Amino acid sequence: LIKSMKGEKNIRNNQDYQPTIVFWMKISAFIFGALVALLGVLVLVSWEYNIIELQTFVPGFVPMNPLAAIEFVLCGLAICASYFGYLAVFRKLSYLLASLVIILAVLKLLNILGINIPIDQLFFANKLGNFTPPSRMPPIASINFVVLGLAVILLDFKYRRQSFAEGLALISGSFALFMLLSYLFGSTFQSPHIFFSPLALHGSIAFVFLSIAILFLRPRAGLTAILISNTGGGLVARRLMMITLVLPIILAFLSNGLAYAGHIDFEMSFAIVSVLNIIIFEFLISHYSLTVDRMEKEQEKNQQVISKAKSLDDALLSSIGDGVVATDQKGIVILFNGEAERMFGIKAKEAIGKSVFSLWQIYNKDGNILSKKERPLQISLSKGKTITSSVVNPFYYSSGEKKIPVAITVTPVIYNNTISGTIDIFRDISKDVEIDQAKSEFISFASHQLRTPSTAISWLIEMFLEKYQDKLDPQQAADINTIYRENQQMSDLITDFLNISKIEYGISAVQSTPVSAISIIEGVLNEKFKTQMEEKKILSEKKLKSGVCAINADPNLFQMIVDNLISNAIKYTPENGKITVELDRFKAGTTVGNKKLSEDACIIMIADNGYGIPRDEQDKIFTRFYRAANAKDKKIPGTGLGLYMVKMFIEKMGGEIWFESEEGKGTKFFVKF
Ligand code: ADP
Repeated sequence: LIKSMKGEKNIRNNQDYQPTIVFWMKISAFIFGALVALLGVLVLVSWEYNIIELQTFVPGFVPMNPLAAIEFVLCGLAICASYFGYLAVFRKLSYLLASLVIILAVLKLLNILGINIPIDQLFFANKLGNFTPPSRMPPIASINFVVLGLAVILLDFKYRRQSFAEGLALISGSFALFMLLSYLFGSTFQSPHIFFSPLALHGSIAFVFLSIAILFLRPRAGLTAILISNTGGGLVARRLMMITLVLPIILAFLSNGLAYAGHIDFEMSFAIVSVLNIIIFEFLISHYSLTVDRMEKEQEKNQQVISKAKSLDDALLSSIGDGVVATDQKGIVILFNGEAERMFGIKAKEAIGKSVFSLWQIYNKDGNILSKKERPLQISLSKGKTITSSVVNPFYYSSGEKKIPVAITVTPVIYNNTISGTIDIFRDISKDVEIDQAKSEFISFASHQLRTPSTAISWLIEMFLEKYQDKLDPQQAADINTIYRENQQMSDLITDFLNISKIEYGISAVQSTPVSAISIIEGVLNEKFKTQMEEKKILSEKKLKSGVCAINADPNLFQMIVDNLISNAIKYTPENGKITVELDRFKAGTTVGNKKLSEDACIIMIADNGYGIPRDEQDKIFTRFYRAANAKDKKIPGTGLGLYMVKMFIEKMGGEIWFESEEGKGTKFFVKF
């Protein structure tokens, strides 16, 4: 509490209050209530046993009337009960005690109206006259008890965010302070008016305690809340409060002292106090008004910096050639740049504040409207991932009659681990789509044009050999065979190239269906490469577990993958070698070929005991046109496209490929679906 009163800046944080302060304030309120109740009890005891020090606090001062002592006990207990006000029984108890306090005080107050109910003379009646004048409860005490009783009852009542109890506590506190200061300045309480009859000194202190207790019981309300808050307002309030509470009292005390000592007369003392008070208040006013002024100017400056930055942002955004739309986490537009205005034909003013889903539709390749769930924005919001559409598979939006292809990138804005919105970028890709189409057309055109002559050459050579085989000398036959082989290789290259292009450019869509892996593998081993294997006297072994694997893949691509891997195994294995093809299912967590599986998977393994791949080249063999040095040295024909194609196909279908190889010992490829 002291820390916050000193206005330490370092306690500033995001919270308005320090929870520990609130906690201690409430505890203090309870303690103040209990102390006051105890004081009341002690005074009653002192009436019984005539202990004058407790009755008057300072000998010669007025005693505390027994009724007032009873009221203090009730009031103190009411405050202690309010501390536990979150329990209904204690809340009701506090209301009951406070009501008693009010009733007793009101009965006594009636004598101001001339109705004299002498309840303050009921207790210790014979001892009240031991004092001159006889002990009575003064009106100020009655008023304070009514006020405090009401404060306890209205503790949680607020009007226009102002706490009633706080106002009441300030009233009773002020009266008590007035009495305390009168004692301090040595008043003899010589007033003909009954209102100014004195309150016992310890009674005045008890009222200050009770008022503070009321303020502390609800620290989160009204003035108390500002006083303990970590904001600039709290800091200023604390400082001003300290100065204005303490300084005028000290000044009055000192100047009163001067008057008593005979240095000045009392009229001069008033003048000095007034002037000094004026000076203090003027100083405070000018100091804080200058501060406010400075803050205002700073704010103005900051405002200018912000608006400059904003206009820069606006200029940047509007000069971006792509449509930029920012949305909140529900897809409501909060920013809409100039290009977006042009693309969608909607003005920023109209778009901002509306849902993207209602502003425009997005279509797929076939011209169907995407449902909200399918839209990139919604996917990005629900997955928290960046969603990008490609030139190969564009989305479309309609501009008038026309559907225009658009590349969309939606990036979620993640703040404090939650998605707070998205940034959507739209790029008109009409040109790219046109170029892409032209490219695809060129590829299919070239494929037909190149494939026909190449097939024709193969066919013609076959015919030629059939006819003239016997008439050729060995050299001629060898040359013709070379021509045939080279042409065959060119034809393979064209086929590989076309297959790659088809997938790369999305000409043939990848469609996954259940494939019977075992029969495809068996077909490749037993039929397609049968002759080749026999020529090289290569043995094959099959370990294909049936019934454990259901593989979903594009049948054509699957066939090409198996073809390529088995043909490589045969190609890169010398005569009398052996190849092994396995198919099995593995549990998550098992390590297969140096790879730990993260989920259950079916894996096809194609192993050979051939030349192997040199270690330093292993990371390159999936690269387009890459061929290992040992393959080139041995003049084994090939294009370097097979593995690149295999990897691309597998990944298109969501699978994975890896291998282990040792030069001179063999290679084992693993394909996971
Ligand atoms: P190609 O076989 O037409 O050269 P690939 O892309 O199929 O092209 O293979 C790339 C390279 O990887 C081959 O040139 C060869 O060096 C190496 N390679 C592929 N499979 C094997 C294998 N089973 N054993 C040894 N090396 C291989």
